[in-house]
Amino acid sequence: MRVHDSLIDLVGDTPLVRLRKVTEGLAPTILAKVEYFNPGGSVKDRIALRMVEAAEKSGELQPGGTIVEPTSGNTGIGLALVAQEKGYRCVFVCPDKVGPDKLSVLRAYGAEVVVCPTTVAPEHPESYYSVSDRLAREIPGAWKPNQYENENNPESHYHSTGPEIWDQTEGRITHFVAGIGTGGTISGTGRYLKEASEGRVQIVGADPEGSVYSGGTGRPYLVEGVGEDIWPGTYDTAICDEIVAVSDKDSFLMTRRLAKEEGLLVGGSCGLAVEAALRVAETAGPDDVIVVLLPDGGRGYLGKIFNDEWMADYGFLSAETEEATAGQVL
Ligand code: PMP
Repeated sequence: MRVHDSLIDLVGDTPLVRLRKVTEGLAPTILAKVEYFNPGGSVKDRIALRMVEAAEKSGELQPGGTIVEPTSGNTGIGLALVAQEKGYRCVFVCPDKVGPDKLSVLRAYGAEVVVCPTTVAPEHPESYYSVSDRLAREIPGAWKPNQYENENNPESHYHSTGPEIWDQTEGRITHFVAGIGTGGTISGTGRYLKEASEGRVQIVGADPEGSVYSGGTGRPYLVEGVGEDIWPGTYDTAICDEIVAVSDKDSFLMTRRLAKEEGLLVGGSCGLAVEAALRVAETAGPDDVIVVLLPDGGRGYLGKIFNDEWMADYGFLSAETEEATAGQVL
């Protein structure tokens, strides 16, 4: 029988799909690495698996232990899947800008979820960083993967995402574009691609306007999972050849186009990354092959990005926007 004994065996090996509509008029080949094909629905399954297995090997995570982590949801889903398989308890700490659907998903997988305010500074005792530190100290047998500092986060991409993209493009990739949250994806994948191509592949970070990576102060933005107000240890500050800052509005409008025109129902950080990739493509040549990584699916954002009222409330849809009238019966 052709069966898999565990969902964990299905982590990675995600497809590379050509973008054809949103790229019209642009010369290069633009390919999307679609990470929602992972069993937990996001790129974060990769790091969850590697971080847990490394902690088991080092003895930091013992049988019956508890995984405590601040996560915007996707890392939580990955960790919850791996934890379920291996018999660990999970407690996740999330900022309150995370959509309610994402929190329900974590709880559905059997995890406990603590929600903290987004607007407080990282050092504030109620910040999601502080609360997760306290819980990791107080719960017996707790282990905090700390995706912002854990070297197995970028390592997982160095050993999986990077080689997959190199093989799938038969070494023809010229640019790799990805959002930066912890920086694990871009640092690990970028390092592999730089090594494999002897420095030829250009690494482009996509960052929400206001985040520190593109020179901001951490001003709140609405795209989830990317951008930071602190500098995490998992981000290799030398890896990017270029960083493109994209507004919430441009990120979300592109996210909606990906669903409508490419059939890709994906999250807001995907729209952000594709928008950055298209800007790179404007000055790239016909032989260039741009790979853009799409971290997760769009179901967790139905009440926000894919909701016209929510978009209009933030001024992301205007009367002139074709989208604003698309649903009206004329
Ligand atoms: N997009 C989403 C939706 C995410 O959850 C994350 C992870 N925080 C990222 C992008 C960024 O990935 P990384 O942490 O590897 O930089």
